[in-house]
Amino acid sequence: MPVPLSQTWSVVRQVVGHALRGERQKPLVLMLEPLLRCNLACPGCGKIRQRADLLQRQLTPAECFAAADECGAPIVSIAGGEPLLHPHLAEIVEGLVARGRFVYLCTNAVKLEAILPALRPHRRLVLSIHLDGPREVHDAAVGRSGVYDIAMRAIRAARVRGFRVATNTTLFAGSDPQLMRDHFDRVMTLGVEGLMVSPGYAYDAASGHAGFLTRERTQQMFRQLLQRRPRTWRFNQTPLFLAFLQGAWELECTPWGTPTFSVQGWQRPCYLIADGYCATFQELLQGTDWQRYGRTSGNPQCRDCMVHCGYEPSAVRDTLGSLRGLWATLKFAVQWSRRGSERDRVQRHQAGGRETPCGCVGS
Ligand code: SF4
Ligand code: SF4
Repeated sequence: MPVPLSQTWSVVRQVVGHALRGERQKPLVLMLEPLLRCNLACPGCGKIRQRADLLQRQLTPAECFAAADECGAPIVSIAGGEPLLHPHLAEIVEGLVARGRFVYLCTNAVKLEAILPALRPHRRLVLSIHLDGPREVHDAAVGRSGVYDIAMRAIRAARVRGFRVATNTTLFAGSDPQLMRDHFDRVMTLGVEGLMVSPGYAYDAASGHAGFLTRERTQQMFRQLLQRRPRTWRFNQTPLFLAFLQGAWELECTPWGTPTFSVQGWQRPCYLIADGYCATFQELLQGTDWQRYGRTSGNPQCRDCMVHCGYEPSAVRDTLGSLRGLWATLKFAVQWSRRGSERDRVQRHQAGGRETPCGCVGS
């Protein structure tokens, strides 16, 4: 069950249309945070470490729709906090879908099974389940045992009801790539349409967490995780972003490609850093000194960051905005497909099949 063509086409049309009109700073994904509170307390999370009064506030459906209309991104990622705690979540989702947006509803899945009857499966709605690894790894990451089993049960229930489902996984310094590979093998058997991966980011608000990655360590870990991956794995991410994570492609951050709107307004400059808030999206675009952000800026807060919210929009633009990027995308996709099939053959051979590692039929 791959990403529908209509979704890919919507993004392509948006990016190419903006390029033809000479519009540079157009967002692809709105990160919408209708509330910041959560029913978990993951050690690496900066969102839940906000002031108590902010944790009590929540956006109204009308504020969510106004933000989506104002920024015009074709994809809205509803995050938080835990969005399923919002009493008007179903109305927010329905309203965004009705506006023609593709909606990624990001959730820790603790309340997902209970809320499924209130949601309507739709080709524009993806349930994106936070799952940081196999049982012991995930439960340790979220600081509560039993959450992995709840999430896996919710994924099965959502698939039975016909929802599109993806998983999102954050890797920290202690993550074991082989354990993650086994985890991805398992998740793909549940009928999810894609995996999303990202390295953890050291929020100021979560600076007590010792597990964040340096850029070199990130690249090393993602090479171990992604090289020779099986063809059964599908990613809801671009080949160039995955190449970037492995140090095989250079990208610069374009934080305006994934703006964040929350109970505090439009966050400057990105989902991860809070250098102030703006009342309107235009104010965010025009009033932010974007040169101060990204790796080449020398900003220490950006030095080790390789997080999708800054670099996935850059990867999409590289893919669609230049022949070099398009060619590299095709090259990486073919390379990984070939290596994946080679790995599959080796595994079948090791498991006692008749096919040899070189692909010919053995005795
Ligand atoms: S589930 Fe998400 S929002 Fe909740 S504490 Fe964990 S990382 Fe933060
Ligand atoms: S490099 Fe990372 S932290 Fe810096 S602006 Fe970009 S996304 Fe935000």
